[in-house]
Amino acid sequence: MQTMKLIFLGPPGAGKGTISKMITERLGIPQISTGDMFRAAIKEKTALGLKVQAILAAGALVPDELTIAIVKERLSWPDVRQSYILDGFPRTIAQADALAEFSELDAAVDFEVKDDLILFRLTGRRVCTSCGAIYHRVTKPPKVEGICDLCGGNLYIRSDDQEETVKARLKAYHDETEPLIGYYQKRGLLLTIDGSPDAETVYNTFISEIGRFLKK
Ligand code: AMP
Repeated sequence: MQTMKLIFLGPPGAGKGTISKMITERLGIPQISTGDMFRAAIKEKTALGLKVQAILAAGALVPDELTIAIVKERLSWPDVRQSYILDGFPRTIAQADALAEFSELDAAVDFEVKDDLILFRLTGRRVCTSCGAIYHRVTKPPKVEGICDLCGGNLYIRSDDQEETVKARLKAYHDETEPLIGYYQKRGLLLTIDGSPDAETVYNTFISEIGRFLKK
């Protein structure tokens, strides 16, 4: 199989996590989600978790040095030597510059979704505590309320999916992450995809477009 080293850009709730999980399941490419790593650290009450807990709760960004250090370490593992999807990293120009020093990307995929749809998606999002599967109260309800269709785990609402926190996260996105679109466009690495349709449609668009960025 072709190798692919990708980053997923786009606002919170654009579908980065959902599409990454589909690619992991169908193509076997590992997903590295900095948000998931921080949430796991918070749950396990590690030193990192204690440092970042209040930052995530406020919808702000974790400092660059901390975030860069965990991604750099994760990218040294053998499973991601050939291919990976960085879901939610980089989120600042400083992170993008650091990444360019320790890994070479094939593409930066930007999932475009308008703010009002983001608010609807995130405030209705439900996540499985045990397998991480993602549902939506209206558009993708589980068969049994509160229970994961896939593994039977309990579903929960991410604490940062409350409306006020979503607004703070959107502001952080527009202020600090959106400039990365121009950054990767200049480098010829940008693939823009409409992230507003259903996940299957977005996935199919991704599959039909990504080939031109991959090495033969
Ligand atoms: P996500 O699951 O990607 O929406 O990330 C959840 C939260 O984790 C964000 O709101 C930030 O507080 C933090 N976070 C995740 N990735 C990064 C990053 N690359 N830089 C800074 N903070 C991050």
